Amino acid sequence: MAKYKVGDKVKIEKGGGDWDEMCDEYIGREATIVKIDHHSSGYSGYSDTYTIDIDQGDLWWSEDDMEAITSNANALTQGPPPRCKKCGDLFEYADPDPEFVCYVCRN
Ligand SMILES: [Zn+2]
Repeated sequence: MAKYKVGDKVKIEKGGGDWDEMCDEYIGREATIVKIDHHSSGYSGYSDTYTIDIDQGDLWWSEDDMEAITSNANALTQGPPPRCKKCGDLFEYADPDPEFVCYVCRN
């Protein structure tokens, strides 16, 4: 069963197994899965190959070459900076989080 589905956002990371040097430039970049080829028996142990948008579909990727960017994580990085739940101070450089408690209040 495929780990991802078409439209999923992933971050490219260097997977184990076969790795094409052409893939190096994509490490750490965000991509959207545009196509999945299902194979009943992958000879390298990978059952599916993925096509992504940022390489214009040039390369085949396996699910070991990527990690999911959850919609939750997306919302967190795009949200406003948090205020401490207890003292109400604004923390511009902290990750957005409605449950944020500053270091002072936490201790
Ligand atoms: Zn506080």
